[in-house]
Amino acid sequence: MAKKEINQCSFCGRSDKDVNMLISGLSADICDSCAEQAYQIVKESIEAKQKSSIGIDKTQLPDPKKIKEYLDGYIIGQDNAKRYLAVAVYNHYKRILQEKNDDIEIEKSNIILVGPTGTGKTLLARTIAKMLHVPFAIVDATVLTEAGYVGEDIESILTRLLQASDYDVASAERGIVFIDEIDKIARKSDNPSITRDVSGEGVQQGLLKLLEGSIVNVPPQGGRKHPDQKMIAVDTKNILFICGGAFDGIERKIAQRLNTKVVGYASSLKNAEVDRENLLQYVAPQDLKSYGLIPEIIGRLPILTYLDALDRSALRRILTEPKNSIIKQYIKLFKMDDVDLTFDEDVYEFIVDKAVEYKLGARGLRSIVENIMMDAMFTIPSTKQTQLHITKDYAGEQLEKSQMIKLKNSQ
Ligand code: ADP
Repeated sequence: MAKKEINQCSFCGRSDKDVNMLISGLSADICDSCAEQAYQIVKESIEAKQKSSIGIDKTQLPDPKKIKEYLDGYIIGQDNAKRYLAVAVYNHYKRILQEKNDDIEIEKSNIILVGPTGTGKTLLARTIAKMLHVPFAIVDATVLTEAGYVGEDIESILTRLLQASDYDVASAERGIVFIDEIDKIARKSDNPSITRDVSGEGVQQGLLKLLEGSIVNVPPQGGRKHPDQKMIAVDTKNILFICGGAFDGIERKIAQRLNTKVVGYASSLKNAEVDRENLLQYVAPQDLKSYGLIPEIIGRLPILTYLDALDRSALRRILTEPKNSIIKQYIKLFKMDDVDLTFDEDVYEFIVDKAVEYKLGARGLRSIVENIMMDAMFTIPSTKQTQLHITKDYAGEQLEKSQMIKLKNSQ
C-alpha cells in the first residue's frame, strides 16, 4: 500500500502541525485526541459488557464449584458458608435467566449468614459481587427505622445500591445487598409486642417488602423523603439480599432446642453426637425465631448457614494466604518504592499472638501490621534502601513504640 504524502490524522483530518502528536500506522495515522476518544469508546463498551454480563447468557455464569474456588482465593475456611452461598448465588442468577414458558417459577432465595463478628460475612458477600460484576451495597440494619422515625428509611438501602450502579436502574435491579447486623432488629422477646417497637419489629416488617420483591420508590439521594424529590422506581424482585448477624447467645437457644428434642423424641439426635463446642453448626430457622426474628422474615431468608469462629491457625493463614492478604499488600506497597520487603516466619506468629491477646480477631491483624510498618513507611521512601527485613524483635519494638505514642496522645 502506498505511503501517504501528507501527515494528517486519518480520523479527524487535522495535519500534524495542528495536533500535539501524530501516531503513524502502516496506512493510517491517528492524532492524540482521536486516540483518546477511541480509548474512551473502548473502555465504555467493555464496562457496559461487564455490567450486563449477568442476566444475558447462561454460559457466562460460573457454576457453584467455580464460585467456591473463587471465594477460596480470598476467604480462609468457612467451607460450609461458601458452599451454601455458591449454590444460592448460582440458583439466584439461574432464576433471573429462567424462561417463562411454563407454570414453574423458581422463587427467590435470599440468604442469612450467622456467625461471630469479623469472621468474613461481609467479605463473602463483597467477594461474590466482585466476581459477578454486579453492583453491591452494604447497609447496617441498626440505622434503619420505620418511616417517620429518626434514622434512615428502609428505602435508603436501595439508594445505596443505585449509587453503587451509577444510577443504572437495570443494573441495580440485579445487584446484591448485604444487610449487616440483622440480629440487632430482632424483637426483644419471642412474643409479639403490644406496644410499638420502633427499631425492631417495625423495621422487620419494612424489610419484608424489599425481600419478597416489589417495586419501591427510592429517593435518589437518600435521606428523608421529600415531597419535591423525584423518586426512582426500583424492582427488588431480582436483587439478592444477603443478611448477616452475630446473634450473640443464639447457642443457648440452639442448645435448648437440641435438649428438648433429645428428651422428646427418645434421642433422635443423641447427646454424644452433638458437638457442644460448636453449636452454631446446628442453627435452624426456629432458633432465629426464638431470637426474635419474625417468621415472615425468616421465610424470606430460606438459605441459612453459619460461619466458624476464627482460631489461631485461621488467623495465621489470613495474614498471608488470601490473594490480597494483608502481608501481600504491604509487600506491594514497598515494591512501588523498589524495596524488597521480607518477614521472618516468627513475625507472623507474633502478629497472630497479639491479635488474640487484644481480642481483635481478623480485623486486628491489619492495624497491628500497620503499627509495625509505620516507621519504615515513613522513612524508607526518602532513602536509597532496597531491602527491608522484618524480624520478631523489630516487630515487637515497633508495636511497643506505637502503643507508647497512642498512650501519650490519649493522656
Ligand atoms: P463480619 O462481616 O463477619 O463481621 P468481615 O467480613 O467484615 O467480618 O471481616 C473483617 C475483616 O477481617 C475482613 O475485611 C478481612 O480482612 C478479615 N477476615 C475476616 N474473616 C476472614 C476470612 N475467613 N478469610 C480472610 N479474611 C478474613
